[in-house]
This record gives sequence, structure tokens and C-alpha cells, in this order.
Amino acid sequence: MKKQEIVVVGGGFGGIKSALELSKYSYFKVTLVADKPFFEYYPMMYHTASGGSKVVSTIPLGELFAGKRIEIIIDKAIKINRGKKTLKLASGQIIDYDAIIFALGTTTNYFGIKGMDKYSFGIKSLKDAEILKTHLHKNLMDPIHREDRYVVIGGGPTGIEIAGALPEYIKYLRKQHGIRGRSKPKVMLIEAAPRLMPRMPHSVSRVLARRLRHLGVQLVFKKPVQAESADTLLLDGKPIKTKTVIWTAGIANNSFFKDNHFILSDNGRVKVDQLMQAWPGVFVIGDNADTKYTGMAQTALHDANYVTKNLVRYMEGKDPKAYKPKKPIYITPVGKNWAIVVWGGMHFYGKLGWLLRKGADWIGYRDIEPWWKASNRTMADRIKEDNCLVCATKVNAID
Ligand SMILES: Cc1cc2nc3c(=O)[nH]c(=O)nc-3n(C[C@H](O)[C@H](O)[C@H](O)COP(=O)(O)OP(=O)(O)OC[C@H]3O[C@@H](n4cnc5c(N)ncnc54)[C@H](O)[C@@H]3O)c2cc1C
Repeated sequence: MKKQEIVVVGGGFGGIKSALELSKYSYFKVTLVADKPFFEYYPMMYHTASGGSKVVSTIPLGELFAGKRIEIIIDKAIKINRGKKTLKLASGQIIDYDAIIFALGTTTNYFGIKGMDKYSFGIKSLKDAEILKTHLHKNLMDPIHREDRYVVIGGGPTGIEIAGALPEYIKYLRKQHGIRGRSKPKVMLIEAAPRLMPRMPHSVSRVLARRLRHLGVQLVFKKPVQAESADTLLLDGKPIKTKTVIWTAGIANNSFFKDNHFILSDNGRVKVDQLMQAWPGVFVIGDNADTKYTGMAQTALHDANYVTKNLVRYMEGKDPKAYKPKKPIYITPVGKNWAIVVWGGMHFYGKLGWLLRKGADWIGYRDIEPWWKASNRTMADRIKEDNCLVCATKVNAID
């Protein structure tokens, strides 16, 4: 039987998992198109941005796919021709496919807030995390222009994770750069809704708010962020002096789908049928697909498993199964050794939550690499400030 050429586009959760699963079957010739030579494990990006090792948030594709029957092309997909069954890449290369799986993830949406795209920081990539980390160091090392107020925008999981990690990290940085003094770092979290994680039960929002306040984070609700400049944030008409604004409040679907005339839902995600197809043989999974639990790594992994199993069923002459969404478990770490877990109707928090989060990360890595590598990676969360050039400089100032 002729091998089916399956092109997987996107080197994130959905794409990596799809390529790995398909490569187990000799029916398929698998090509992965990724715009970066490494996979980013977003759930730990807050940790890398706040002094943790990049080992926990980044894995080179060459390492993930060593010995696997997968061709890797580092390039950007720009145009699909469904009639000819080809995909055009930014380099001009055109590749053929029998079936194609898109898992391109989302991009940041600043909702047109003036200056936000230029001046705010993010934690949506390793590059973002490293830029933020370097800025935090440099800000504290500058005795004249230092500004000790840190603002996180967005009370969803990402905003909560980084806001929870910042107070301890800033204290650590001050010590490291020899800055003495009693004043506490001012970390503020701004959420447009009246509570944190507005889609979760009220009790979860209350626990999170209590925990963040305990860590010294000031919470601001229902106030519009209007503009940002190099050293000021305009919040509800009032200027706030800060050089560090971390934007976590908005995402948009990857523009590839609009540019290529996919049918989109009101939320901008791609409408897919019960087999996760936008059109026959064109699968859209993970954050790009308009499914019940889209927007979670667990969903992207589930989707990848589902689509690849159906492709195998097809090759074996069996009928495909319809997609069933799988409810994710929500685990949000907030500061050291503490996380909240929302599992179905239950929620619990504290050290037990933290241990569960460590277990969930291990499972997340284990999904794409051998158990022993996953174990080493989970343990690498203890490594601090690896690869950091500005770390050793002492300022010896009094704050
Ligand atoms: C900071 C942060 C923390 C998170 N924490 C959690 C968590 O704790 N638990 C959880 O379940 N979920 C979490 N999520 C959400 C989760 O990471 C996403 O749902 C998941 O990454 C979606 O997987 P995906 O494969 O659809 O897209 P992604 O993992 O985003 O992968 C998309 C890939 O496609 C690449 N790409 C984009 N355009 C192109 C193109 N044109 N050509 C080629 N490649 C392209 C991108 O660079 C990227 O590598 C978090 C997200 C963020 C940003």
C-alpha cells in the first residue's frame, strides 16, 4: 500500500504529539513543519521568566525526534492549496500532503491598547521569558532609573502564575545584586473582571485572591487599562509609574486561518466537524479548533491522540470515531510549593496541589519523551539562573 504523506504543521503540544504518534506506524510518511527548532512547554514559562532553568520550558526538536521517522522542516506555513493538496512555506518550498494537521497555537492580542505591544513584556515564548528576566535584572541594577513596581495584566492562570512568582524572585534579585533595604517589591495584578479566573467557581477565585495577597500582590479589579509608555501605565485615567508591565490578558487565533479562508467561529477559532476536520483531510486541533475545552495543553494532546488514531483506523479500513472532548484538570501554581487544583467539581490547594502539579508536569513531558528524561526535566525546576549573563553583577546599593 502507498504510504500516506501526513504533514503536521506546528511544533507545539498538538503538532509534536501528532508527529510522534504517527511515526509509530509504517503506513505514514510524516513531515513536521515548525517555525522554531524547539518545543516550548508553556506551563513552565512563568518559572523560566522568574529565574528558573529553560530546561523545564524548552526542548530541542532534534532531541524529541532523535531516531524517529519524522522529517523536520524549520519554516513557516503560509498558504494551503486544497485543490492541489499542497502547503507553501515562507521559504517558497511547496510540500505535498495526503492529509494535513494544523496545530499553530495562538498569538497575543493587545486589544489595540496604545503602547501595549511596544512596551509590555510577555511570557508566551522562551524569547519573551528571557527578555523579561534580563529586564528585571537590569532594572534593579540601575540605581538612578530603577522602578520597583511590577504590574501584571490578566487574572487568568498565566497572570496569576507570574504574579505569584514575582515577589520572591524580586527579593532574590535584590539580594543577588547587593541591594539592601526594607521596602517590599510592589507587585500589582490587574483584572478587568470582578474576580480572578472568572470562569472558575467563586470559591476558587477567593482562594486565589487570598493566596496572592498573602504573597504581597496587590489586586485591582474592574479597572480599564488604557495605555502604556516606557515608564507609565494609564489605569482608569490614573498614571502608574512602572517600567515592568507583563501582558497576559489576551490571545487571538493564528492569522493563518483567516488568511487561508477557513471558516471561523465568533471567537475566531476554526469550525471543525465531528472528525476535527475543517475540510476532508484538513485537520485542525488544539488551540486553533473551536472545541469545548480548547486553550489547554491537555486538550491539544487529547486532540492529537484522537486525530492520529482515526488516521490509523482509516488505514486499517475501519470507520472513524467521532470526537469527544475531554474535560481538563486545572492546576495553577501560585508562589513556592503551592498550587490550586480544580478537578471536576472538587478543588483543593496548598502543598498537595503543588505535588499534583509536579506530577502533571511529569506526565506532560512523559507524553512526548521517555520517562527518565521526563523525570530529569521535572527535577530541573530546582536549577536557578542558568545561562544568565547579567546575574553575577553586584550593585551594592541601598534602597
Ligand atoms: C504562559 C502559558 C501557560 C500555560 N499554562 C498551561 C497549563 O498550565 N496547562 C494547560 O493545559 N495549558 C496551559 N497553557 C495553554 C497551552 O500551552 C496551549 O493550550 C497549548 O500550547 C496549545 O497547543 P497547540 O499545539 O494548539 O499550540 P502551541 O503549543 O502554541 O504550538 C503552536 C506551534 O506552532 C508554531 N507556529 C505558529 N504558526 C506557524 C506557522 N505558520 N508555521 C509553522 N509553525 C507555526 C508556533 O511557533 C508553536 O511552536 C498555557 C499557555 C501559555 C501561553
